[in-house]
Amino acid sequence: MNLLQQKIITEGQVLSDSILKVDSFLNHQIDPQLMKYIGEEFAGLFAEAGITKILTIESSGIAPSVMAGLSLGVPVVFARKRKSLTLVDQLYSSKVYSFTKNETNEISIANSYITSDDVVLVIDDFLANGQAALGLIDIVEQAGATAAGVGIVIEKGFQNGGNLIRERGIRVESLAIIDSLSDGIVTFKGENSR
Ligand code: 5GP
Repeated sequence: MNLLQQKIITEGQVLSDSILKVDSFLNHQIDPQLMKYIGEEFAGLFAEAGITKILTIESSGIAPSVMAGLSLGVPVVFARKRKSLTLVDQLYSSKVYSFTKNETNEISIANSYITSDDVVLVIDDFLANGQAALGLIDIVEQAGATAAGVGIVIEKGFQNGGNLIRERGIRVESLAIIDSLSDGIVTFKGENSR
């Protein structure tokens, strides 16, 4: 069991059969030591991929992405969920439906931050139905850049997002893959039970 899996077991709260709360280290309070480990893991996995930029989405994708960017020596761009006063440039935008929040957000980046020369690693905190990651991949494609792969901190393997992205021939690397949250118990892929 890796450091992240141990943290999920000790601090994660199973809110339902499909939702895991990890506010104590990823979604509200952030554990910098764990983020450093996560960043180094992503950097190792994609070391040979020629990554020139990381693309993530605010807000919970930012911490793991910054640490991965530090390890890989590349900048990190985060898509915004709300139009900001300063986001006045030409934009790449994509619509992202959230099943957990039952709302659609238009995510955007200024088009100057990703160009057709970029090889992009998409990073996010969770992979559930894949809409956030697919929206980010859509932005990479609008820019004419190359999507080198997707790095996910926690994939819920019992939801369809991983399949949707892998079916498109895009590499997905998840640092923890959860097979089940049934009965309040976290079961990782390859484990029978805990
Ligand atoms: P997707 O677009 O893959 O359906 O969902 C990904 C986004 O939904 C993530 O960026 C994350 O913010 C949120 N999310 C989905 N499932 C969970 C969950 O079980 N726990 C938490 N904390 N966030 C989740």
